[in-house]
Amino acid sequence: MVPAPRSSFRRRDRLASGMPHDATPQEPFWRTVPLARMTPEQWESLCDGCGRCCLVKLEDEDTGEIAYTDIGCRLLDGETCRCTDYPNRQAQVPDCVRLTPEAVMTIGWLPPTCAYRLLDEGKDLPWWHPLVSGDPATVTAAGISVSGRTAGSEDAFGLMELIAHVVSWPTRWPRGAKARTAAAPRSRRKPAPDRPA
Ligand code: SF4
Ligand code: SF4
Repeated sequence: MVPAPRSSFRRRDRLASGMPHDATPQEPFWRTVPLARMTPEQWESLCDGCGRCCLVKLEDEDTGEIAYTDIGCRLLDGETCRCTDYPNRQAQVPDCVRLTPEAVMTIGWLPPTCAYRLLDEGKDLPWWHPLVSGDPATVTAAGISVSGRTAGSEDAFGLMELIAHVVSWPTRWPRGAKARTAAAPRSRRKPAPDRPA
């Protein structure tokens, strides 16, 4: 197995600025504008900042199968999930892939929760996406973000150590994240009836 291109497209600071210029309140832009025709602002606002695509991935040379690790790219801040040198990322990490509509169609390893992949597959954005919830914190609340879940930065790991860090959670939906809406808070248990005196 050899390290494969990680990814990705990164703009975490403009999530709130991506509301459509040409959509009605009833029909948000991501339901009406194809990926290839989105404005740069709309496109950038789709990134939920989860950081999953910035985890190091390994590719099986024989099968082409991609496996995620819980090790972050050397430029990934494991707490904020931000790229620490976004403007120069491709100079520093040459295999960082810039997401484009064409790339989204051909890359097979985007996480199933990634907005670009979801829309490319004709699906809607989930309740925890900041464009839906209005709050970037829901990405963490829903268990999508890698914040606090990385085991370190790639520079500290050799290939065999990376293999020991292969994990499946970046390729799965956390419980409840696929629901149409956020789960309601659990109701308090009924108080036990008073015992007879
Ligand atoms: S997986 Fe998709 S939504 Fe998450 S950080 Fe990467 S590009 Fe953005
Ligand atoms: S260079 Fe930045 S955007 Fe690219 S994979 Fe690394 S952390 Fe992510």
